[in-house]
Amino acid sequence: MAISKKMQDAINDQINKEFYSAYLYLAMSAEFAARNLGGFAHWLHIQFTEEQEHALKFYEHLLERGGSVALKPIAQPAFTYTTNLAAFEQVAEHEAAVTASIYNLYETALSEKDYPAQVLLQWYINEQVEEEKNAAEIVESLKRIDAHDTAVLMLDHQLGKRGGD
Ligand code: MG
Repeated sequence: MAISKKMQDAINDQINKEFYSAYLYLAMSAEFAARNLGGFAHWLHIQFTEEQEHALKFYEHLLERGGSVALKPIAQPAFTYTTNLAAFEQVAEHEAAVTASIYNLYETALSEKDYPAQVLLQWYINEQVEEEKNAAEIVESLKRIDAHDTAVLMLDHQLGKRGGD
């Protein structure tokens, strides 16, 4: 069954949001790299890659269902570095906002009786549980670390070991 116009438009909006997420994390990664915190930069760079994969998964879904992809301009990332903690609090807040937008999309899939989109979105719902957990863990670590530079470097080393999922 062909995808509805309403569902297609909602997915195209989400594709833009996923690319925006990628762009935001790339901006953050650059900032941490410039501060010689290569582990944080690495973690954020993987996040950048994953967000592009999220966008492409929606993109492929539209194509598989005979829908059309509409790529919109990606906004300039709204990020200014103040502290490590503030940056990761922003990651956590951003992921909470993404979760809300995935839930909205799921509501649309329910009202449109779009079963394939519901199945696809269940993957994103699970993924967001993971994303929120990862961000919250780093925020918690940074709160404990506070301003102790040695501990920051230890966390940087740990984040540098993240493999691509
Ligand atoms: Mg995402």
